[in-house]
Amino acid sequence: MNEIAHNLAQVQNKILAAAERCGRAPEEVTLLAVSKTKPAGAIAEAVAAGQRVFGENYVQEGVDKIRYFAQIGEVPLEWHFIGPLQSNKSRLVAEHFDWCHTVDRLRIATRLSEQRPADMAPLNVLMQINISDEQSKSGIALSELDALAAEVAALPGLRLRGLMAIPAPEPDYERQLAVCQKMADAFAALKNRYPTVDTLSLGMTDDMDAAIAAGSTMVRIGTAIFGARDYSAR
Ligand SMILES: *Cc1c(COP(=O)(O)O)cnc(C)c1O
Repeated sequence: MNEIAHNLAQVQNKILAAAERCGRAPEEVTLLAVSKTKPAGAIAEAVAAGQRVFGENYVQEGVDKIRYFAQIGEVPLEWHFIGPLQSNKSRLVAEHFDWCHTVDRLRIATRLSEQRPADMAPLNVLMQINISDEQSKSGIALSELDALAAEVAALPGLRLRGLMAIPAPEPDYERQLAVCQKMADAFAALKNRYPTVDTLSLGMTDDMDAAIAAGSTMVRIGTAIFGARDYSAR
């Protein structure tokens, strides 16, 4: 088994253990393999090991990889855009990705909807919540959620699937859980109002257990699968 296949199996086992500890079915939690900065060869190894769902942060890099894997055409892959999105890059996301996790204003949502090609399924979107209320982070406050949700849900090129957050790093499990629980409560309320909502993108390497205990349905893991990132070439 190569290193990436081995790492993937370990991460899957961690998801399984975390789900079992809180009495959830492990199939409720999707592993999003975050492949930013990693070459196509590394992704191909993950695909060979059975991984089908990938997350990218940089628009052009992600589009290059999507095109490459579409062209070799082995198996269908699902691509999630998880980075901060500027208006001038929205078209590439709308035309190539399956999901966007970082919708945090109407202007971006409207552009994505208008730019989504008519022959593609609606773009699946998550609204990003700035749950730790950090000045530097993107995302809306929970108080802004209802208004943005109503607007996004009405856009024909988008399908509102749920919420995403990147909580501030926090070593203490109970405090991680409290933040994740706030997200889970907002998610449950949203799900009640919109039948298309089924996804809570929450949990990374260091807070995955708390996120799964709170009800996350998608964890985003990069380094534990692909190894440390090298940003020197960017
Ligand atoms: C990079 C990134 C991840 C993965 O981070 P790792 O620490 O490599 O597991 C998850 N979510 C988002 C939004 C990211 O940008």
